[in-house]
Amino acid sequence: MENQKTLTIYQPPTLRKMTITFLKLGWRVITEALKGKNILVAPQVVSTRRSICSQCDYYQQPRCGHCGCFLPTKTLIRAAECPINKWSVDSRVDSKISTKANQGAY
Ligand code: SF4
Repeated sequence: MENQKTLTIYQPPTLRKMTITFLKLGWRVITEALKGKNILVAPQVVSTRRSICSQCDYYQQPRCGHCGCFLPTKTLIRAAECPINKWSVDSRVDSKISTKANQGAY
């Protein structure tokens, strides 16, 4: 009994707060897409993000109990960030334009 880990269930954010978070992220994704940047991160980044989330107290599969985001999707998006800074926006810049240029070189 003494060694039992206490499971904390966090209250999800309000619908209003989740909507604002979703709209802000959507705006950043659209902005990056319009700049010609990739909106998704590399598989290694997804894996690292998901590993961090899976060990977080707020993790309530498949969602984050802090921001309410659907983590299988959120961890794919380059402009997404953890609300408590456990992981951040993937700042590596590789645009679609340069990717296309690289593909053309082969
Ligand atoms: S996004 Fe951040 S707060 Fe949410 S589960 Fe992942 S690491 Fe935890």
